[in-house]
Amino acid sequence: MKYIGAHVSAAGGLANAALRAAEIEATAFALFTKNQRQWRAAPLTTGTIDEFKAACEKYHYQPGQILPHDSYLINLGHPVEEALEKSRDAFLDEVQRCEQLGLTLLNFHPGSHLMQIDEDKCLARIAESINIVLAQTKGVTAVIENTAGQGSNLGFRFEHLAAIIDGVEDKSRVGVCIDTCHAFAAGYDLRTTESTAKVFAEFERVVGFQYLRGMHLNDAKSTFGSRVDRHHSLGEGNIGHDAFRWIMQDDRFDGIPMILETINPDIWAEEIAWLKAQQNEEAVA
Ligand SMILES: [Zn+2]
Ligand SMILES: [Zn+2]
Repeated sequence: MKYIGAHVSAAGGLANAALRAAEIEATAFALFTKNQRQWRAAPLTTGTIDEFKAACEKYHYQPGQILPHDSYLINLGHPVEEALEKSRDAFLDEVQRCEQLGLTLLNFHPGSHLMQIDEDKCLARIAESINIVLAQTKGVTAVIENTAGQGSNLGFRFEHLAAIIDGVEDKSRVGVCIDTCHAFAAGYDLRTTESTAKVFAEFERVVGFQYLRGMHLNDAKSTFGSRVDRHHSLGEGNIGHDAFRWIMQDDRFDGIPMILETINPDIWAEEIAWLKAQQNEEAVA
């Protein structure tokens, strides 16, 4: 079973995210549980928590179909001690919000070295940040997203994801989310069925599908290997349709939330319907 949805708005209350997902016939969704551009948020009230859980039940979303995303400000590999502490505290708060909402996954970008420490040291810091936060929480898996490698962001090589996982003590609570736009911009060729199969064979070898806990399905305005993060609607960018059809027909992507972060919310319903239909198209592999 494939779970397919989009990163929907939670404006007006977290429960609205489930409603908006249902409106576009999504079987998965992503959301921010707080404003993604602010450090602080008011604690969740019992009312908000109950309404969110009720909406998820009403529209048939289990925790495994929901992929919350943390704040963009957090840098778990920050080279400066004080700033690192601030990020770790904010990440702990994000995981605790997921715990309160009954959610089991939290998607985040690994972190940046800001040209002040080397890659290995930054990756070790990120793993340590995850360890610190997992030790204080229960039931939530830290889902590391691959990046386009813009600026000094790490996570643009599968080897980076593997190195972070390697440093995490509780392997049962760490996973990855592969963003197709980010992978393509980072130099993983998704332009044909053959090249896509090769990319995911490499993923299996370096990271392993047992760690795949989510997907971000985005076409790319950015060019191949450009390390620039610009999403596009499916089939309209430099990736094209083939990779997405191939993913829909491979059962290694079953049972995880697959989320559109494409640029035109008005066509999310169509994109979801198209993705669902690809499961029954003639096999391309
Ligand atoms: Zn993404
Ligand atoms: Zn992106």
